[in-house]
Amino acid sequence: MAAFHPGNGTIERLGRMLGEAERIVAFTGAGISTESGIPDFRSPGGIWTRMEPITFQKFMASEEARLEDWQRRFTMNEVYGEAEPNIAHRALAHLVAEGHAQGIVTQNIDGLHARAGVPADKLVELHGNATYAHCLSCRQRFELEEMRAAITREGSSPRCACGGFVKSAIVSFGEAMPEAEMLRAYRLAEECDLMLVLGSSLLVEPAASVPRVAKRAGARLVILNREATPLHGLADLALEGEIGAMLAQIFPHLADQEH
Ligand code: NAD
Repeated sequence: MAAFHPGNGTIERLGRMLGEAERIVAFTGAGISTESGIPDFRSPGGIWTRMEPITFQKFMASEEARLEDWQRRFTMNEVYGEAEPNIAHRALAHLVAEGHAQGIVTQNIDGLHARAGVPADKLVELHGNATYAHCLSCRQRFELEEMRAAITREGSSPRCACGGFVKSAIVSFGEAMPEAEMLRAYRLAEECDLMLVLGSSLLVEPAASVPRVAKRAGARLVILNREATPLHGLADLALEGEIGAMLAQIFPHLADQEH
């Protein structure tokens, strides 16, 4: 079992619950990465306060939307590349490495869980990954730099040799969820004894159903978020505050490794 260093009050309860659990599964959202400098969607200053999302349907229907989507992807990828995993990513990687956490289900596309050291077989990326692209028809993989060069050269959105549109490998709004990833997520949720939600508004479905499945299957539900979520009423413990400050009290040995 991992060595926990509980602080006081409700943080102490969080430390106790993490210590008592044997099969933790974490469910993370954009809020886990804001302290790494990546804006979330819904907070003040978040991405949605600045621009409308480009839905899958818009991407398929309009060349202008495709080119705009690519430009946004290139810009965001620079932000992701410059960001470093923070204490929360490190704490989850530590729990996985110790065998205390069975897996991490994330809605994030920024790649920070993997960069914190979580192996691919312990990581479920429900909304895909922004660091590469693929053909929407045959699923062949393409690298973003290749795509950037092709767009600059040709002035049009890239197509695969099979004729399909190429798009960054994230799941856009309106696009079907990856079935295998959803099944892996539900399996982890059904088998865990503590579901730890970090930094998600829990408003995006079907991803937000994962913590509900865990609770229904008998797991304890713990939510760490800046604000209340629709699942707060179901939670065994819900702490409102900054994730980094909360976890620094539980994992002080991971707190002084900021870059
Ligand atoms: P969201 O923006 O809907 O919710 C984020 C939640 O985290 C909010 O409730 C906010 O109050 C909270 N939060 C933000 N910073 C926090 C902090 N430091 N400490 C505690 N709480 C904090 O995000 P979501 O629930 O993940 O859903 C939105 C979608 O956004 C997801 O589908 C995801 O794919 C996508 N997204 C991902 C990234 C990323 O990969 N980093 C960034 C933006 C959006």
